[in-house]
Amino acid sequence: MSVRYKVFWAISIIFSVVVIGLSTLILWVGMNNQGLISNDTNGIKPQEEWSNNWPNVVFYEVFVRAYNDSDGDGIGDINGLTEKLDYLQELGIEGIWLMPINPSPSYHQYDVTDYYGIDSDYGTMEDFKHFLEEAHDRNIKVIIDLVVNHTSSEHPWFQAALASKDDPKRDWYIFADKDTKLTERGEWGQQVWHGYRDNKYYGLFWEGMPDLNFDNPEVRAEMINIGTYWLNEIGVDGFRLDAAKHIYKDKEKEKNIVWWQEFRQTMQQVKEDVFLVGEVWTSAAEIAPYMNDGLNSTFNFDLSSKIITSVKDEQDNGLGTFLTRTRKYYATMSKDYVDSIMLTNHDMDRVMSQLQGDVNHAKMAASLLLTLPGNPFIYYGEEIGMQGIKPDEYIREPMRWYIKPEGTSQTTWERSRYNRGANAPTVEAQIDDVDSLYNHYKKLIHLRRSQPALILGEIEQSKIKAPGIVIFERIYEHQSLLVIHNITGEIRNLSLGEESQYNQFLFSSDSSSQVINKENQVEVILSPYSSVILTVEK
Ligand code: CA
Repeated sequence: MSVRYKVFWAISIIFSVVVIGLSTLILWVGMNNQGLISNDTNGIKPQEEWSNNWPNVVFYEVFVRAYNDSDGDGIGDINGLTEKLDYLQELGIEGIWLMPINPSPSYHQYDVTDYYGIDSDYGTMEDFKHFLEEAHDRNIKVIIDLVVNHTSSEHPWFQAALASKDDPKRDWYIFADKDTKLTERGEWGQQVWHGYRDNKYYGLFWEGMPDLNFDNPEVRAEMINIGTYWLNEIGVDGFRLDAAKHIYKDKEKEKNIVWWQEFRQTMQQVKEDVFLVGEVWTSAAEIAPYMNDGLNSTFNFDLSSKIITSVKDEQDNGLGTFLTRTRKYYATMSKDYVDSIMLTNHDMDRVMSQLQGDVNHAKMAASLLLTLPGNPFIYYGEEIGMQGIKPDEYIREPMRWYIKPEGTSQTTWERSRYNRGANAPTVEAQIDDVDSLYNHYKKLIHLRRSQPALILGEIEQSKIKAPGIVIFERIYEHQSLLVIHNITGEIRNLSLGEESQYNQFLFSSDSSSQVINKENQVEVILSPYSSVILTVEK
């Protein structure tokens, strides 16, 4: 090849590169100009514009023992939790659910020995009142676990019942008589009759938790006293009601609903806006009657697994349709029900373990949770991707605050199996990393708080469908949002139809996702694992 030809080819190549580069740039700028985007605020309003929608808020579930230690004994406590209220406020949390804080012989405290007290491991009643004041000052409401189905076998009531058959407390529990079938098994195949000789008693969960007899009006009255005390004298804002479907045995389960109606009516007389959320771990059909004046809310366990399997398989498994149907059904029972939604709680393997540590999947699970209708509950540590697989102790490990936890307020209540060593997620490592899971949660929670349609809007399935895309509308009064999640690792183009329907590009989780206008047809280009929200003209 002659020198002249070499120069010619070199100039041609440079020219082509410049032309291709320039046209790409022009095309890119053109797409942005044509787009519907005005994305300066990223959909999130400043804090002073957030509305207080209690009880429709984002909750955070705390296991106090594992959370934060204020006095150096390694056990999380109330004062330690108070120290972390700024952290929770910053995250955008407006409601806290505390797992049981009453005195109890067990680490988890679901077997109570005094319904009017605070466990000494956790602090004093004064500490708790101070915590409530500090939480309320930050517009954070507090609900506590109320475990009424059973007491501890060490509760003085049960000890009195065991000591004498003539004690009035004997009838507060369920003792066997000559007709009792002592071989009876519970729904998990477990033994339900415990004790010796003339003192055989019913305990659905465990021999250390004898069930109370709710046919005895004194028991019902006492539970109403306890609820009144916490609302009125102490100042909590509601209760998470443990084992709400087991108050009566399965064969007379309709009495559960009557009891919760009685409880709700009296609690509402004490505090008009009290929030009562029940653990009714069963199908939507069986849950629905509880919403009929009984409870404000129940947890949606079925939705949890739908969200997690969708993001894991990168395939919408119909969670929008499921939710639309369930909500329509609940609405036939109650006008003001609240669906409490979550990824996991203290009884389930941690979501990050279910997702094998995949941060992109964890981010999409959070994006789905925080854009769906209901009250999202975040289990402590979920926001940084803590891991944990049952047995229960290992899904309740010390909250990881610090990269080097030695000598800090981080709890050591047990030795961590899943969240230890240099690679464990920590708040310290994630708080300044804009791409961290923590900041993803924070962004989505703040977005939710600033959009009435995300907080209060009904869900409607979109007619648009595409593989790996979860798409639905959230509608509230005159506002309607089209929420689009790409739960796959690939770029996805989606045609949304005529432009006139859409008037604003509200939110994008990823700056490289785009909405473009091609001959009056709107197309959205979604980056892998990303979400886009548009406002829709109604
Ligand atoms: Ca402590």
